[in-house]
Amino acid sequence: MTKQSVKPPLITANVVIFVGFPLLALILVPFWGLHRGYDSFQWLWALAFLYLNGLSITGGYHRLWAHKAYQAHPALKWFFALWGAGALQNSILIWASDHRRHHRHVDDDDQDPYSAGRGLWFSHMGWMLRNYPSGDNDFSNARDLQRDNVVMWQHKHYVALTTTMNLGLPLLLGIWHGDIIGTVLIVGLLRLVVNHHVTFFINSLAHFWGSRPYTESNSARDNGFLAFLTYGEGYHNYHHIFQTDYRNGIRWWQWDPTKWLIALCAKLGLASNLTRVPDFKIQRAIVDAQFTRARRELDERAGSETLREMLEREYQLFTDFVNQWRGLQTDRYERKVAELEGVLEIRRQQMLDGWERAALRSKLRELEYSLKNQRKRLGVILQQLQLQVHAEPAT
Ligand SMILES: [Zn+2]
Ligand SMILES: [Zn+2]
Repeated sequence: MTKQSVKPPLITANVVIFVGFPLLALILVPFWGLHRGYDSFQWLWALAFLYLNGLSITGGYHRLWAHKAYQAHPALKWFFALWGAGALQNSILIWASDHRRHHRHVDDDDQDPYSAGRGLWFSHMGWMLRNYPSGDNDFSNARDLQRDNVVMWQHKHYVALTTTMNLGLPLLLGIWHGDIIGTVLIVGLLRLVVNHHVTFFINSLAHFWGSRPYTESNSARDNGFLAFLTYGEGYHNYHHIFQTDYRNGIRWWQWDPTKWLIALCAKLGLASNLTRVPDFKIQRAIVDAQFTRARRELDERAGSETLREMLEREYQLFTDFVNQWRGLQTDRYERKVAELEGVLEIRRQQMLDGWERAALRSKLRELEYSLKNQRKRLGVILQQLQLQVHAEPAT
């Protein structure tokens, strides 16, 4: 494929926002700091705005609207629509439509609007600076969002909303506090630039730096440090394989304030139908990725027949577990259909129900446990493969 030699034209407004604003911040924020200084009131409000904007992008734009990982009460939608507009990352409709394309065509340089294959700079910011065909609006993947009143209202009034949130609110805070320029610089400008870059890290660094425990079929990475900066979105390898899960960091200790916010909203009655991927599916993805890695290691060297045989035996077991699990899912599905059709009498059904559900649950747990054990055994095989590499004399 030949690369285009002539670059598409620059988008002036975006150059001002993504190049002009950071430069202004770089010059004016230290200048005012040395001249007048900032106080804790301004820093705390800047931090509050940073999280309000950031979480509205990750919890609202991303997990709610782009991925439909849960359902939100209208009050929560309005909240995300307003504070998300304050992040100055375009309207929900444009953002979510681009993002769905990113998932569908990940790493495809022609169709993924911020494909990591086009480099770190392009995926971070470059994609927004020029009129690239891959960035053209196409809402055919967002018909559902076009039916959402909040989304369409925000889309229609986006410029007024983002100006109010980015300039109007910091101005009011500045008047209240008695230092308009300092407050606008910190709460308005610096907060905006910082939030831009930490959010952009998800498209750039989270596709270059970190581990790939769940799938190696795309460039997305898991990275705890990035998760800390990106309101929990740094577990991006998990997210790309299970995009409808409302969590990105699935362990309780993994830093994911977005998932905590959604869970809290669910407790308050503001969010419902939170999607969680079943544990078995998650374990299956991890084990599958281990097989891919082990096979690749084995293919790269000869003379590991014992390990190869062990691996193939494990693979047989793995296929069995997956088939059993699928069987159980089919049973569950058929029972649901039968219940709906009223095929079984209700009272007998209720007695059977409790018993059968418990049996089904214990079978599922057994399978999850078997898979966890297999994951450990595969870890040992992978370790032995690594040891072999180090033991081989350098050639
Ligand atoms: Zn991504
Ligand atoms: Zn996503």
